[in-house]
Amino acid sequence: MGIRVCKFGGSSVADADQLRKVRAIIEARADRCFVVPSAPGKRYSADEKVTDLLYRADSATRSPDPKGLAFDQIFDLIAERYRKIVSDLGLAYDLDPALADVHAKIRGGAGPDYAASRGEYLCGLIVARLLDRPFVDPADMIVFDAKGRFLPEETQTRVADRLGREKSGVVPGFYGAQADGSIKTFSRGGSDMTGSIVARGVGAELYENWTDVSGLLMTDPRIVERPRTIPSITYRELRELSYMGATVLHEEAIFPVRIAGIPVQILNTNAPEDPGTRITAAGHDAVPAGRVTGIAGRKDFTIIALEKTLMNAEIGYGRRLLSVLERHGLSWEHMPSGIDTLSIILKSDAVDGKLDQLLADIREACQPDSIDVEKGIALVATVGRGMSHQPGTAARLFGALAGAGINIRMIDQGSSELNIIVGVENADFERTVRAIYAAFASAPRN
Ligand code: ADP
Ligand code: ASP
Ligand code: MG
Repeated sequence: MGIRVCKFGGSSVADADQLRKVRAIIEARADRCFVVPSAPGKRYSADEKVTDLLYRADSATRSPDPKGLAFDQIFDLIAERYRKIVSDLGLAYDLDPALADVHAKIRGGAGPDYAASRGEYLCGLIVARLLDRPFVDPADMIVFDAKGRFLPEETQTRVADRLGREKSGVVPGFYGAQADGSIKTFSRGGSDMTGSIVARGVGAELYENWTDVSGLLMTDPRIVERPRTIPSITYRELRELSYMGATVLHEEAIFPVRIAGIPVQILNTNAPEDPGTRITAAGHDAVPAGRVTGIAGRKDFTIIALEKTLMNAEIGYGRRLLSVLERHGLSWEHMPSGIDTLSIILKSDAVDGKLDQLLADIREACQPDSIDVEKGIALVATVGRGMSHQPGTAARLFGALAGAGINIRMIDQGSSELNIIVGVENADFERTVRAIYAAFASAPRN
């Protein structure tokens, strides 16, 4: 029988009741061998995630807490959450020595990555007890370089070696370590990465990603009420959607499993019988032409639009523009172009404070006839492998936006024809997502 790796998100480990569901899920199948827990998330909407409390505790060692608590008071909130979980589960387990060690290290200035990682670490200790499985610390296997960049191949070798010696285990999510032993975390939501890394390392047959929704939905449920579930999706489509804002899976978590061809199943801890979403290389079935898989987006981009007569004939024009960006240490999101126009789309927070200098440098290097800047742009991606070579899809999309009176500031269709991205004003973001969803949600089902 193949091995399954099961990652549980913050809401799935938020309290003892949720952890009992985790235990039932793991015990339901003998092949659910490796478990990757996140840190306890919110129990109710006004609650604070343990990870957020840990970041707060760490910064309170250096500067006053925005909510006015002292370091020890914040740490007590964290410690109490864990103690309550242990006692509500009825575990005969004294977590206090581990809590005292974490307290001393954060207070001693171990830094934000160490502090944040302890959410998963402490949760992992409890889950290992609860399931009676060995605790395996990812600090010994998941490797980052001195600049904090994740090293996938060295990690793969170490994970395969270390977990190859275990039949089952609990590996806390979200962190690894640098060569000097200092703890390093992935970006927020990074426990999904750990699950994917562990799945690749043990050669899993399936990576189960357990969360609080019954799979990937066609769009963000906070924008559209009860969107349809996507039964099957390809790695490439998911990469587009998660990069563009479908936060259900960390935007880089697809890479380790994709290399190994391991399918991912997104499942709901609160409704474990629901089928969820299957993510594979090819997708489950043939997709009807014109079918849209999902819609996702993000706010706060800046468009810099250049116009110059005969730009198209000028050799090296794009290179000069890109070299200015490189000098400013900026990566760009999109670069739609016309015959004599070229636009570059950047995340607004990346250019904040350096826009004037950037524009001056672009003027000098590229000598455009005009240069326009639009801030406060939201990008919305409509993604689907069924969209390739389907002119009707674009017509339907733009028709829907025109019908809703939405002004489109930018259009970019990737050469893969896997997606169409529109730029609209931030204020129109939600309306745009709803209009596109309404235009495509009634398309034929799989
Ligand atoms: P976890 O803590 O389990 O990792 P996350 O909060 O990271 O869970 O991701 C699940 C959440 O992602 C859902 O509760 C939902 O609000 C949000 N979400 C955003 N876009 C989508 C989407 N397209 N499909 C499903 N969930 C989405
Ligand atoms: N606990 C971390 C976070 O809140 C990682 C995760 O949940 O995936 O971002
Ligand atoms: Mg997540």
